Amino acid sequence: MRALLTIDDFSSKNTPAIVDYLEKNKVPFIFFAWGQNVERYHEEALYAVKKGIIIGNHSYTHPQFSSISFEEGVKEIEKCEEVLNNLYSEAGVERKYRPFRFPYGDKGGANKEKLQEYLAKQGFDKVDDTDIKYEWWKEQGLAADIDTFWTFDFAEYNIRPNSGFTIDDVFKRMHEENPVNGGALLKPDSYNMLLLHAHDETEEMEPLYYQRFIEDCLANGVEFVAPRFIRR
Ligand SMILES: [Zn+2]
Repeated sequence: MRALLTIDDFSSKNTPAIVDYLEKNKVPFIFFAWGQNVERYHEEALYAVKKGIIIGNHSYTHPQFSSISFEEGVKEIEKCEEVLNNLYSEAGVERKYRPFRFPYGDKGGANKEKLQEYLAKQGFDKVDDTDIKYEWWKEQGLAADIDTFWTFDFAEYNIRPNSGFTIDDVFKRMHEENPVNGGALLKPDSYNMLLLHAHDETEEMEPLYYQRFIEDCLANGVEFVAPRFIRR
């Protein structure tokens, strides 16, 4: 079982600790940046870029793209690009790859096609998904899209006061053999794209949550692979 780890909503207070832990354990990954969070946690964001982590665009204010116009969507993406370009140049690091992920995986509803064309035209990099063998990945058009979706969602962002969702529910998801949605993380010969978040709120509820998930993956034989990109 192989997996590519992606971590959304960068940056946060907790970001340097996440970077250090994953680096120490040789787990490659991609961050997807929420532009406003990069401004809020600027030093933490700079730390990750200087460490060579690839930072993708995840919009500026993290809206539902199906609830905004195409033009507003473009502005969201452009504003985050500007924040990221400034961040890389301040760090003195060349920005080699520009993957994109829609907030909530919301591909824009009626504007979906136009947004895909826009992403292609602007030269966003598609994360190589050719090893994903799920039929539904192709059937739902995910193999053709430029943006970065996922096959497995830890859903740890649901761990919140009074939500009734606990860290044990995450472990249950991780060990599900036939999940209703998405891929089975620990299925032999699987290749999954994993979705995790750099949320300080989760860290407050469950300190070192990300370490506990990654350790469980490693203990169960998941091999974390480096991201590759397809340029269209
Ligand atoms: Zn997000």
